[in-house]
Amino acid sequence: MESLGLYLHIPFCRSKCGYCDFYSVAVLNRPILPLIRALARELENRLAERPGPISTIFVGGGTPTVLPRPELDELMSCLKQVVDHDHPIEFTVEANPGTVEEAKLDLLTRAGVDRISMGAQSFHLPELQMLERLHTPDEIPRSVKSCRSVGIRRINLDLMFGIPGQTLAGWRESLHHAVDLGVEHIACYGLTYEPGTALTARRDRREIVPCDEELEAEMYLAAIDDLESAGYHQYEISNFAKPGERCLHNLVYWRNEPCIGVGPSAAGYLQGVRYKNVSNIEEYICKVEQGGQAVVESEKLTGQDLAGETVMLQLRLNCGIVFDEFLLRTGVEARLTYARSIAKYVQNGFLKVTDSGVALTRAGRLMADTVIADFIDEPRSAPRCRAGSTRRSKWKMENGKWKMRTCRR
Ligand code: SF4
Repeated sequence: MESLGLYLHIPFCRSKCGYCDFYSVAVLNRPILPLIRALARELENRLAERPGPISTIFVGGGTPTVLPRPELDELMSCLKQVVDHDHPIEFTVEANPGTVEEAKLDLLTRAGVDRISMGAQSFHLPELQMLERLHTPDEIPRSVKSCRSVGIRRINLDLMFGIPGQTLAGWRESLHHAVDLGVEHIACYGLTYEPGTALTARRDRREIVPCDEELEAEMYLAAIDDLESAGYHQYEISNFAKPGERCLHNLVYWRNEPCIGVGPSAAGYLQGVRYKNVSNIEEYICKVEQGGQAVVESEKLTGQDLAGETVMLQLRLNCGIVFDEFLLRTGVEARLTYARSIAKYVQNGFLKVTDSGVALTRAGRLMADTVIADFIDEPRSAPRCRAGSTRRSKWKMENGKWKMRTCRR
């Protein structure tokens, strides 16, 4: 049976990190309660149309744990009906080191939270400073300890490679620090220069020198080797878990299963329709007060669009595309539709044939974007963006969240 996820977006952080293009604003002096009331109203409306029980909850952002305790409590109260009624099998809250005081964590565990996903990024102060993160390396183990002390059993640490100035040895040290903390899950993301961010502006002004591509590839392969030998199984391009500790909520996304998205800029996928809410707190509140929801973009995914998006998601998984499941989900016979790409990439070693379909090889994971783009282009000649890149889907999955795609050079 399909899973059904619930994602809540809390658009507040202590301050904005230089590389971040997720919708979030500094929390200081912001009216939080009106937003939580609007979230509760949108949630109630969405729950009325849920096609089955919610199996996973993910409260992300932003930094949900930056909310003051009374507001965090209010937020958790909104979710009580889901926890009591649907008994989700996983309830994750995103946090940053330095925002997880024990009283807040205690409140979260009492509300049913059983997993914390923490944005550690690096164990080296200059790298954290380059990213404009506010925490220091020492705060990471302290925060992990606080989580454990209130009984949070499942912890993910996000780490980042490809940071300007980062060395291979420094990256491996960060990996080993994370492993030594005994966390159940580690996600490794390459730094990307998103349009409109402070870090991209610094790169464009030549104030920083981006990491060399070959070094970045070495860092990625080192993560696969070091984490596998420490007992973490890679199950997705960026994600590594100890046995039984995969993130079930993210698997909902990667399998292209339905998910309710609630909050400013949240995206959801229900009854074959992908939708996105407005990315502005005031407009969000206003829209929800007027009509119970705040959708600004929606698209019914069918045929080749649905197949292309499913390729984009499932090729990221180590198990890859399973032909029979793909046919059931999309109505498209992947073996025939993508025959040319499959033959090409199996021959050059980027894809391997599995018992039930095809999956990226270790070398193929470094070329995932190219392989996926060729698959998607194969059944149709897609319209081209002005700059010459192929416009594929409006939607993309990045660092475990849905975003609208921009046409980039
Ligand atoms: S990276 Fe995370 S902590 Fe930093 S601004 Fe973005 S959402 Fe907030």
